Amino acid sequence: TEPLLSIRDLRTVFHTDEGLVRAVDGVSFDVDRGETVCLVGESGSGKTVTGESITRLIRMPPGEIAGGEIVFDGRDLTTLSEDELRALRGDRIAHVFQNPQGALNPVYTVGWQIVEAIQLHQDVSRSEARSRGIDLLDRVGIPEATRRFDDYPHEFSGGMKQRVSLAMALATNPDLLIADEPTTALDVTIQNQILDLLRELQAEFDMSILLITHDLGVVAEVADRVVVMYAGKVMERGDVFDLFERPSHPYTRALLDCLPGRGDGGASSIGGKLPSPTDPPDGCRFHPRCEYAVDACREGDQPPACAVDGDEDHVVSCVHYEPGGDPSIVRDEEAM
Ligand code: SF4
Repeated sequence: TEPLLSIRDLRTVFHTDEGLVRAVDGVSFDVDRGETVCLVGESGSGKTVTGESITRLIRMPPGEIAGGEIVFDGRDLTTLSEDELRALRGDRIAHVFQNPQGALNPVYTVGWQIVEAIQLHQDVSRSEARSRGIDLLDRVGIPEATRRFDDYPHEFSGGMKQRVSLAMALATNPDLLIADEPTTALDVTIQNQILDLLRELQAEFDMSILLITHDLGVVAEVADRVVVMYAGKVMERGDVFDLFERPSHPYTRALLDCLPGRGDGGASSIGGKLPSPTDPPDGCRFHPRCEYAVDACREGDQPPACAVDGDEDHVVSCVHYEPGGDPSIVRDEEAM
């Protein structure tokens, strides 16, 4: 069956005073129905812009989708008009952001906003929308949902606000939820509650989730598949178990080494800095920070996506995996 979302060679650029920023530069991946795909990378990797490009939430100008396809349920979203996209946004594709404040209007009660969201996309009566809204608040774990329905956003705590914004996003029963760092601002206990909740709701609503995060701990909790991004490019892509068992790209390995209990005892971050957005290095974008870099890494373009051990669903962009290369150079070090 066709994936729900299929992104091919997506290129999103920003025209800035400092020059052209290729924030997303040839990114490809799929999201199947009912699965969770995690986009991971440090800030500046292009993961957020990728998520925002899907429903064209990027600011245009200075942003622009310069190429590629975003096929959602058989339609290429890059060819839709702004009106057609608006109809899709908040209906079949919903977004949740790190800061729930942005999703909620402080002037109106949360109930009013949920009812509006439902009625904007569905032909139901106000009382029907209201009872569905109360049910949703209850589903996302707001105690005394009926009473709290008519409260204003500022009357909810941070974690509760994020639940409310999740209820708003789910109001139209979307096929795809794009969640960008939805738990990053919350403390660990609430973070875990929200992640559990996402999983429950995913099964209940049979929706696909694209979760954008810098946190591999979160990825391990919720992902079916993972896309690792660096400086606008996909470095590695694969099933979550493969990726944690056989991390194959030096960047993925470095990210995993930063997790407590893995690698050399938990370095908190990778050495070196992200490359300049306006002037990225030639060759592999990771080469200035890569301990396995050879001359071939420093010229030409990013290496093509190569299958790991013949598995076409697990690919890396690294010269050592190209035909004739020797992946053991990268992987032997930690072989068990
Ligand atoms: Fe490192 Fe070269 Fe592989 Fe890039 S292509 S990850 S620089 S070894």
